Amino acid sequence: MAAPGFFRNNGALTVDGIDLGLLAAEHGTPLWVTSGAAIRAAYAELVQGLGSALGDRFRLHYAVKANDNQAVLSLLRGLGAGADVVSIGEVERALAAGFAPADILFSGVGKDAPALERAIALGLHQINIESEGEFRRIAAIATRSGRTVDLAFRLNPDVASGTHAKIATGGAETKFGLDAATVARLYAEAAAHPQLRPRGLAVHIGSQLGSFAPYAEAFEAVGTLARALLAAGLPVERLDLGGGFGIAYRSGQQPLDIASFAAGVAKLLGDLPVRFAFEPGRRLVAAAGALVARVTDIKQGGRRFVVLDAAMNELMRPALYDAWHSIVPVGRAEGRALQTVDVVGQVCETGDIFASQRELPALEEGEAVAILDAGAYGAAMSSTYNARPLAAQLLVDEGRVAVVRARQSIAALIAADSVPDWL
Ligand SMILES: *Cc1c(COP(=O)(O)O)cnc(C)c1O
Repeated sequence: MAAPGFFRNNGALTVDGIDLGLLAAEHGTPLWVTSGAAIRAAYAELVQGLGSALGDRFRLHYAVKANDNQAVLSLLRGLGAGADVVSIGEVERALAAGFAPADILFSGVGKDAPALERAIALGLHQINIESEGEFRRIAAIATRSGRTVDLAFRLNPDVASGTHAKIATGGAETKFGLDAATVARLYAEAAAHPQLRPRGLAVHIGSQLGSFAPYAEAFEAVGTLARALLAAGLPVERLDLGGGFGIAYRSGQQPLDIASFAAGVAKLLGDLPVRFAFEPGRRLVAAAGALVARVTDIKQGGRRFVVLDAAMNELMRPALYDAWHSIVPVGRAEGRALQTVDVVGQVCETGDIFASQRELPALEEGEAVAILDAGAYGAAMSSTYNARPLAAQLLVDEGRVAVVRARQSIAALIAADSVPDWL
């Protein structure tokens, strides 16, 4: 087989060798298509790259929020991944996909008492603490229930990650994590509590990072704090170094080099008596997914607009983050004239733009296009704005095609509401 994922075969765009045009005709559009082979390849690349410098001293915990479809979760569980979750809903999704509590690492800001009660009753692998309030809530539940809790403290290392401001999480002005002095104080308190087991530190400085430099700054801060805790006689056995591994959305962009990332981790932190966890989301699933849409209209105003039957409610990233996604015809692209167009959706928002002033092969009304690298933060961020039902999702895996989420019907959308009897 050729490279896993999306490639052309005799001019037609295929997913693992299956014609996307046929899938679009059979299942309708907008349509999410995920390649199982591409996820397997991305997982293998990460395990190999991290292992090159860290041996077997690490585990991957897939960041569920990137793509929380049950089939995607089951596939990654089967490969050996743990799960990184940021809500109780994601805990339940991970359990439903077969992850054991011991595979689940619970991150995320503002975990409330009901979520913590459930997490502690389950005995998750680790809860990453984001605030002093969260620590107090956990301590109270542990004391009352008598259950032990494995904890890590998320350090906010106050570094700039150089990524888009809306996906940077490592600066002191963001809501994430705790400063080093607070971590040190709470860590000692946790160690003295009969039910709390402080295991180590966590850090996650942002998403879509292309170089090791911002990580290095954060990991140095983690190393300094870990050494201080160890010197104070406190146990530090685990370092959770987060995710954020970048991909190339467009030519010229550098994906994060995993082997040199791993070598950097080994150099900065390898001497510590710890096991590492990583929480990649995007890098495992982004390139494995496409959003297939049909051109519903082509109109010439002040600009030439190509209108798709997909919109920002399906794929929000361009509107939210100014993200760039490759857009290609599903049919043969070669031999067409190039045109500069704005590719837009059907939603009544000026910002509903997939690509602005993009040079594309001339497109025709009714034909299918694919928006590539949409497997992460795509379907998972969808909404039903403008009364647009959630789109269907397919998984293509080893020659098989499965509908892994049925297209929502408009009737189901309406049926979710109820009208009080006084109206
Ligand atoms: C979102 C998130 C991740 C995953 O980030 P990617 O850029 O998709 O790898 C990892 N850890 C935490 C705590 C997150 O919030």
